[in-house]
Amino acid sequence: MTIFRSGLLAASLIALSSGSALADYELNILHINDLHSRIEAINKYDSTCTAEEDGKNECFGGIARVKTAIDNARKALTDAKANVLVLDAGDQFQGSLFYTTYKSQAVAEFMNGIGFDAMAVGNHEFDDGPEELAKFLDQVKFPVISGNTVAGADTPIANRIKGYVVKEIGGEKVAVVSVLATDTGETSSPGKGVFFEDEITYLKSVIPTIEAEGVNKIILLSHVGYKRDQEIAAAVDGIDVIVGGHSHTLLSSTDDKAAGPYPTLVKNPAGVEVPIVQAYAYSKYLGELKVVFDDAGRVKAASGAPLLLDAAVKPHTGFAARVKELGAPIEELKKKEVAETTDTIDGSRETCRAQECTMGNLVADAILDRVKAQGISIAIQNGGGLRASIDKGVVTMGEVLTVLPFQNSLATFQLKGSDVILALENGLSEIEDGAGRFPQVSGLKYTFDRSKPAGSRVVSAEVKEGETFVPLDPAKTYGVVSNNYMRAGGDGYSVFATAGQNAYDFGPNLELVVADYLAAHRPYKPYTDGRIAEVAAATAAQPASEGEKTTTDAAAGSTPAESASSTAAAGGKHVIARGDTLWDIAKAAYGDGTLWRRIADANGNPRPRALHIGTELSIPGK
Ligand SMILES: [Zn+2]
Repeated sequence: MTIFRSGLLAASLIALSSGSALADYELNILHINDLHSRIEAINKYDSTCTAEEDGKNECFGGIARVKTAIDNARKALTDAKANVLVLDAGDQFQGSLFYTTYKSQAVAEFMNGIGFDAMAVGNHEFDDGPEELAKFLDQVKFPVISGNTVAGADTPIANRIKGYVVKEIGGEKVAVVSVLATDTGETSSPGKGVFFEDEITYLKSVIPTIEAEGVNKIILLSHVGYKRDQEIAAAVDGIDVIVGGHSHTLLSSTDDKAAGPYPTLVKNPAGVEVPIVQAYAYSKYLGELKVVFDDAGRVKAASGAPLLLDAAVKPHTGFAARVKELGAPIEELKKKEVAETTDTIDGSRETCRAQECTMGNLVADAILDRVKAQGISIAIQNGGGLRASIDKGVVTMGEVLTVLPFQNSLATFQLKGSDVILALENGLSEIEDGAGRFPQVSGLKYTFDRSKPAGSRVVSAEVKEGETFVPLDPAKTYGVVSNNYMRAGGDGYSVFATAGQNAYDFGPNLELVVADYLAAHRPYKPYTDGRIAEVAAATAAQPASEGEKTTTDAAAGSTPAESASSTAAAGGKHVIARGDTLWDIAKAAYGDGTLWRRIADANGNPRPRALHIGTELSIPGK
């Protein structure tokens, strides 16, 4: 097997400059990023692969496949006397019960077993505070770097994280320098005394320092995301290659789903093109980049491709056995009690994809509660993301995982009120099909009319401001929390992908947030509170004014004979059913639809176009 077996076919060799080939230096960079605790293999949804899926060869990645892929590539290159650098662009922490259970310990063990030349600090490396990152540093046998991370003397990581390392590879010095996203204080928990300097400012100051050490090959190993990598490349001279992470970006010159070519070339201020690479996330790919430097340390050519770690890559036997061993207590953990509930929490498809359901309220309340301090006021969760109910009594972690099995993360972003309405309209657009997009919410109240055409079903929407609900303002911008699946446009929520501003898609996992929330509200009392209400079909038959009936048609999808309004009787009560109109109720009760206002007056004048199904009306006597 040759090292760049996919690259040979897939990658375009890009000549960046011409020059003497006499002293060319070739460097092969093997890289991963954002593994996010996918120690076990994953399925096509990036969540833990089941035995059944494994049997059908439908699993990807997992740390044992990463081990095989890096071992094979490194051996082939080393045998060919080629130079190799193995890098991790950060975010090993957080994402599965392996992290919840073993924290940095399992990460360090497997990474030491693979052997890395350097790792960038990712924002999630701070998820358990700088203390856990410090423990990780105690265990690893390779440098963990981050130049713009400034840690005060009284923090556990003070003076422990260098900005860059210089490696001697094949007789040449190669520097690896690292930067981290400056909003890590908002997306993780670096704690007091840890700050993040602007990446560009830091790099502009440190690159000349590195060059002054006689190093002319500088690799930026970043954890700032694909967009910011391009900005950095365009702003800073002296960086030869950027190996990135954080945005979970698949770059490929052959895959249509890729966000850009592998490598993506961006001109620096001096006009030199800088290759940028990233290799998706979750252990699914190994990035393989070959860079050729000229004698002056300028990149002449860069080529490669991400290697998909599918079933063709056999998991390393020793690693696989260790993963299994570490996984056994996790099976125990799934049995562990996290809370108790006073009643069944209903997560069934029949309810959660059609109306407010208690599981929808729990999950939406939990995700909103987790991020409300970040200025987030609205939660929207797809009903189809809720995969099970939880029965009354003790709640185990396994039950929570059964409800939320996808290892989705919280996604926060800003959205205009008018786009919030568009999102709700999308959520209601396939209600008749029981589609998973139905919007369960928190911080928000809405009513809808399913008889209307898709796209115009929202009747009213209110947001919670302080302790009261006020009408949603289409022009105002709101902080929204959802999950990363919906934020990427899943279930038709393309408005989240296209209109969401200042998005952060990689918050804590949904199932962990919900487990924490249940534990904090023990015993949990499942409830609905009418935040989502279906209104009786507003119909053209509803009189615009007393005594004027414009049409005799009944509500769409309903006929007067089917409508419950036909049973309304003067002097009695009537419970509003789907299709009811005040006109029809008055007609049934009094034999005269024009008397509808009498019923309206007796019931606090409900809006004729927004009758809540299930509401009881008293029908005055004749
Ligand atoms: Zn990240």
